[in-house]
Amino acid sequence: MRTQRQVVDYSLQKRAVLRELLTGRIGTYDVCDASPYLKNAARFHGEPTDDRCPICRSENLTHVHYIYGDELKQSAGQARTLAELPVLAMTLREFQVFVVEVCLGCNWNHLVEQYLLGRDGLAGGVDAAAEPGAGSDTSAGPASTRRRREAQR
Ligand SMILES: [Zn+2]
Repeated sequence: MRTQRQVVDYSLQKRAVLRELLTGRIGTYDVCDASPYLKNAARFHGEPTDDRCPICRSENLTHVHYIYGDELKQSAGQARTLAELPVLAMTLREFQVFVVEVCLGCNWNHLVEQYLLGRDGLAGGVDAAAEPGAGSDTSAGPASTRRRREAQR
């Protein structure tokens, strides 16, 4: 997505959890604990993936996108479909997205990644346009503008 930024990837943490499971330091009941809310969110707003569940290996994982941010008001903390995110990203300045993978078979769930979306991330967006001269003369290109300025000196 165009305005995606400050991505935090949680695959290392996930691998650590799976390693702990293999060594028996934790049990599947510790990690396969998706709440009814999370499972409903996965059913109604989830994004199907081609990835097999690392625990039961019989179901594919579903990604659920949770959104947070002051601008969302009462919608904060709700799950949204992937298709709804670009629309929100064009309407709002900034909001946080948390992606959670869920297995509807065995209830495995883990945070996949988090990132920011919103108009603030657009090049030449609200903030950039406020700076004097930024993006005002794109036709000439930065190199020729510089040459012109040097010639005037
Ligand atoms: Zn599973």
